[in-house]
Amino acid sequence: MSDCIFCQIAAKEVPADLVYEDDQVVAFRDINPQAPVHLLVIPRKHISGLDTAGEADLPVLGRLAAVVADLARKEGLEAGYRLVVNNGPDAGQAVEHLHYHLLGGRKMSWPPG
Ligand code: AMP
Repeated sequence: MSDCIFCQIAAKEVPADLVYEDDQVVAFRDINPQAPVHLLVIPRKHISGLDTAGEADLPVLGRLAAVVADLARKEGLEAGYRLVVNNGPDAGQAVEHLHYHLLGGRKMSWPPG
């Protein structure tokens, strides 16, 4: 989608601190980090949120999870990390392109805000 900021990052039309890319998945550092490590892991395909992912998207959802686990290892998050998907207004989703927040490098509290 031409007016989607994350599509533009994936297409390298907008600069970002990319840490990983393959034919299906792109990962980059969040511009407003909430932890020492805060990565956003997205599908290249424009999927607006987890609720709009269909059967055909199951492979890329699995790929996202595998990339998250790999990036967590590469970022040295052996002590743990948190994976967050904000889906919809109640969760505070600001960018309507599915993204996993990978947060780590500090102790997390529970419940989240
Ligand atoms: P969410 O509230 O789950 O939709 O999260 C959107 C996230 O995208 C926020 O944490 C923002 O800081 C982040 N973000 C927005 N624009 C950019 C950008 N151009 N580069 C990196 N991160 C961004």
